[in-house]
Amino acid sequence: MDKSIKGITRDRLKIAPIDEWHIYKQRPLVIAGPCSAESEEQVMLTAAGLAATGRVDLFRAGVWKPRTRPDQFEGVGTVGLKWLRQAREEYGLPVAVEVATEKHVYEALKHGVDAVWIGARTSVNPFALQEIASALKGADVMVFVKNPINPDLELWIGAIERISKAGISRIAAIHRGFSSWEKSAFRNQPRWQIPVEMRQRIPDLPMICDPSHMGGDRSFIADLSQKAMDLNYDGLMIESHIEPASALSDSKQQVTPAELTEILDSLVLRSPTSDDPEFLETIEDLRSQIDVYDNLLLDILESRMQVAETIGRYKKEHGITILQSSRWKEIKDNAVDKGVRKGLTPEFIQTFLEAIHQESITHQMRVMKED
Ligand code: PEP
Ligand code: MN
Repeated sequence: MDKSIKGITRDRLKIAPIDEWHIYKQRPLVIAGPCSAESEEQVMLTAAGLAATGRVDLFRAGVWKPRTRPDQFEGVGTVGLKWLRQAREEYGLPVAVEVATEKHVYEALKHGVDAVWIGARTSVNPFALQEIASALKGADVMVFVKNPINPDLELWIGAIERISKAGISRIAAIHRGFSSWEKSAFRNQPRWQIPVEMRQRIPDLPMICDPSHMGGDRSFIADLSQKAMDLNYDGLMIESHIEPASALSDSKQQVTPAELTEILDSLVLRSPTSDDPEFLETIEDLRSQIDVYDNLLLDILESRMQVAETIGRYKKEHGITILQSSRWKEIKDNAVDKGVRKGLTPEFIQTFLEAIHQESITHQMRVMKED
């Protein structure tokens, strides 16, 4: 099969599949640790707790924190790297830190980290990415690239290409969700179709889910992790702190090592068993894609109904009727034309639109009745 889509080839990227990584034992690869290194004691106690679970493949802690507003805790800086090194020596856990500048890379490499990750606020910036990639040239480290905060797959791929061109082969993507102005239960919108598309574009690229930053609340972590496993992700990055309530950053979304174990134990790892595993795996992948699109359809319908309600309120204020036949006919004719060009049957589009229209009217009626 031709793997070159829009100019990207497996060969050009030279990505090592996850089962060739020395830290990988089984699915899911687990990266865990506090949002921030806060003190020697907090780092060592958390590392001890996580090492004792026997489930963690890579210990993470941020020492330079990209904070949205000034005067928040911005990390302890280089001293935190000493604590990471200590945790590594004491508990035999490989360690990872976030880097956002060339100076961060030099400091991290000097302190012998095994891995670095590039945060969502950094992966949006090609200048920063290039600076980091150049500083990493030839280094023997694993590099995790978080999705940019905006839903831009090309930008995410570009970041990965820059790291790859620096001669790094153990590169993985971390899906942590995307910023959105709209209110939502999640801190960052998953938009699962973007990583799904990424996997089609770069099939060997290991994909890790970060349900902590996606959900923004520890109560979402188990469900999001399960979803990621169902979509066949390779691993999870979960923020874990020895005492989440006292954390200096992202307190609401961190879990204790014991809670982490519970979450991991609750995961259902579906592995197809059959004479023809490749066939089953493909079917499972495709079905997950269908689920992604069905969920998207529901989200879109929800947004559409919200607009219908707003229109309802507006019409009510101005004393206008709900049903305006000319507008409805125009919508239908346009959609049938467009849909037919997309390979849908006119009957389907008619039925689908009638149902949506009926539901919109129901919502508008409800609004009209409000006082
Ligand atoms: C983090 O991992 O602590 C972090 C800052 O994440 P993100 O870049 O996803 O916001
Ligand atoms: Mn965090």
